[in-house]
Amino acid sequence: MSGLTGKVALITGGAQGIGLAIATALHQAGAVVVVGDLDEAKAKEAAAGLGGEASSIRLNVADEQDVKQAVAQLIAERQRIDILVCNAGITRDGLLLRMKPEDWDAVLAVNLHGTFYCIKQVLPAMTKQRYGRIVTISSIVGVMGNAGQANYAASKAAVIGLTKSVAREYAGRNVTANAVAPGFIDTAMTQKLPDSVKQQLRDQIPLARLGTPQDIAAAVKFLVSDDAAYITGQVLHVNGGMWMG
Ligand code: NAP
Repeated sequence: MSGLTGKVALITGGAQGIGLAIATALHQAGAVVVVGDLDEAKAKEAAAGLGGEASSIRLNVADEQDVKQAVAQLIAERQRIDILVCNAGITRDGLLLRMKPEDWDAVLAVNLHGTFYCIKQVLPAMTKQRYGRIVTISSIVGVMGNAGQANYAASKAAVIGLTKSVAREYAGRNVTANAVAPGFIDTAMTQKLPDSVKQQLRDQIPLARLGTPQDIAAAVKFLVSDDAAYITGQVLHVNGGMWMG
């Protein structure tokens, strides 16, 4: 797999979990990684852990001005942006009849609007460079639905439509856009589930285990590599066989 040496990559929500695994994989493949996260100290610590040219930037993806300012700062410092991984995401679970509008709004604000704001801010540089690789992180829940996650499922399904539209609009400028849809992955997001629920999930997964953040990072690394130059507008499902499209 070639082509990541010297490429500048912003990973949102890169300070922990799947985002940190993606940051690590791209860094190891030679990319100049910028870890973007809400918590400045945590993002700094993650970048320091990577070493080399890796750096961090504080950003709240749900705040358009914040994203605008952070991306402008990144481009001023690095002169370019080659790879964007829209990974920051949250859950606010609850059955629909009990779901508060603020929990609906919060999840849409981060998962969907945040993805839109980040893509919008990097596109001018990517189109000018005639090169860009955008990967969004959707979810198995975006294609299957999930009881208790109407807000999250809606946001992750919408991310797929957004990604396909970006793929169509910017292919002519050599900017690809693909989504990775993880199944159930062992991170802080799923560690809060009771053991009985995790066992029920495992029973539904043909490969009989939750995924690891590294399983997702490997898929992202492929999609931003030169080996995936002819792949755009796709959804890569990484779910142990739990859902087969
Ligand atoms: P995680 O461990 O909760 O990490 C998410 C990271 O995003 C955290 O560092 C968090 O920072 C950051 N973040 C949250 N809101 C943000 C915002 N507004 N702006 C910038 N950063 C923000 O989650 P994960 O499990 O690694 O999930 C990563 C992505 O994969 C998410 O999009 C998630 O929906 C998706 N996904 C996960 C699974 C799974 O099973 N884990 C399955 C399918 C899809 P703080 O901790 O400071 O809030």
